[in-house]
Amino acid sequence: MDVFASPAFDDHEQVVFFFDRGSGLRAIVALHDTSLGPAIGGCRMWPYASESEALTDVLRLAKGMTYKAAMAALPFGGGKTVMIGDPGSDKSEALFRALGRAIDTLGGRYYTGEDVGTSPADMDWARAETPYVLGHSGSSGDPSPVTARGVWLGIRAAVRHRLGRDDLGGVRVAVQGLGHVGYHVARLLTQDGARLTVADLDPNRAERAAEEFGARLVSSEEILGVEAEVLAPCALGGVINDASLPRLCCAIVAGAANNQLLEDRHGAALHARGILYAPDYVINAGGLINIAEELRPRGYQRERALARVQSIAQTLTEVFERAAREDAPTSQIADRIAEERIRLGRQSRAALGAPAAQPARAAAG
Ligand code: NAD
Repeated sequence: MDVFASPAFDDHEQVVFFFDRGSGLRAIVALHDTSLGPAIGGCRMWPYASESEALTDVLRLAKGMTYKAAMAALPFGGGKTVMIGDPGSDKSEALFRALGRAIDTLGGRYYTGEDVGTSPADMDWARAETPYVLGHSGSSGDPSPVTARGVWLGIRAAVRHRLGRDDLGGVRVAVQGLGHVGYHVARLLTQDGARLTVADLDPNRAERAAEEFGARLVSSEEILGVEAEVLAPCALGGVINDASLPRLCCAIVAGAANNQLLEDRHGAALHARGILYAPDYVINAGGLINIAEELRPRGYQRERALARVQSIAQTLTEVFERAAREDAPTSQIADRIAEERIRLGRQSRAALGAPAAQPARAAAG
């Protein structure tokens, strides 16, 4: 298994493989870039079929976190952890304490937290071994409602830009996935007067949302082709692909899911079809903005985190306007802005002769 030659390798600063004999921990931590500050990114636990699949995942996810933090104007970089194992059967206190000790060896260059397959309770165990854990129980809590708030604000910004409307009254939105984030997105959209069509692989979740929000229920196969102003992917990644593109019947794609474009070229394909795409790592940054508040000098304050989430609408509008001026895909414009910010961070660090990322708590004094 090659690391440097992996197609997902993109000049990552550090990739560390951790093994712990006692607990059976097998984890990979990837720090993509710490030019803007210490890396933040959750710990995913998944029964990967192979180590190379786990490596690809962690490399891609870590890079995504760098771009997400840069676009949210946060003084942090991007990193991620993947643990190889089944979250349904392989969890133990020893495992997460071993993870905590592993994270501690990075000396504050990286903060972890919960992600797919892990929970705040797991993070409590890791936290017993290291201070470099965010989102444990008793801290900022479940980020999903805050992520959903950012997505809702982002949909409003997209509707304003594309349809010239300041409200969502009667706007048709197709929501794919009604889990932790999608449910709250659907709730906020309904309160705002949008007319929803929803789908979830889990029939209970789908029926509950349909009933609660008066939404039309369709199958998870149908949802991508539903006629609506907005398609909001809030389930898994890769939904915008060669097979789904010809079926799309919307003016806007704006949702919570990470890595919505199967490949970069699918961003260009949306642009060619005249569909406005809200880049995923911009619109879904609410959870990161929320968790990063824990590292502010005066500690976590929910109201301040929610106020900062408002900036997502402004950032998206800048992306939309620049994309329109340059007749370029919004995905490319967002990448370019993020890369400009990272390059500037790198230059100012070099100009100051500053060392690599310092732990944020220490930096905050
Ligand atoms: P979740 O697991 O709670 O919910 C996902 C839902 O999607 C589930 O109900 C699942 O049944 C459904 N689903 C899966 N495949 C589907 C399909 N093909 N059609 C219809 N429904 C399908 O996850 P979540 O925390 O709500 O996250 C949703 C997405 O948002 C993920 O891509 C995640 O990476 C991303 N995201 C989440 C956060 C957060 O704060 N939780 C932050 C940023 C990004």
